[in-house]
Amino acid sequence: MSEQNNDKREKREDEMYCASCGAIVKKEAEICVKCGVRVKGLPPRANYVIPQLKSPGASLLLSFFIPGLGQIYNEEYKKGAVFMITAVLLWKLAEAVSGIGGVLFFVFWGCNLYDANVTAKKINERGFIK
Ligand SMILES: [Zn+2]
Repeated sequence: MSEQNNDKREKREDEMYCASCGAIVKKEAEICVKCGVRVKGLPPRANYVIPQLKSPGASLLLSFFIPGLGQIYNEEYKKGAVFMITAVLLWKLAEAVSGIGGVLFFVFWGCNLYDANVTAKKINERGFIK
């Protein structure tokens, strides 16, 4: 693979290592051609942290108190609205038919928490919101 050879060869005088993926890039390069991360103005091989776009913890907490709110925080507005309406309907159902209604509400609430948390993580992994 030519890509691997490129990684292993010694860097030349006008080159440096990408701080993010370690690929050899030109010293005057602004963005690493391999990983797309900005290299200009950053110390080489620094252990800098990629900023989180959405906090999975905050998203979880918001949906914990109000189902759908974590989804709105994740900028999934339609999903958030649907979750809120569903939560209200299931709550009403739980009041009317306490057994099954309560179970359905609880299951939905759990899914809502899971979705809020996982979606925030996915957003951070892909590096952009939409
Ligand atoms: Zn790179």
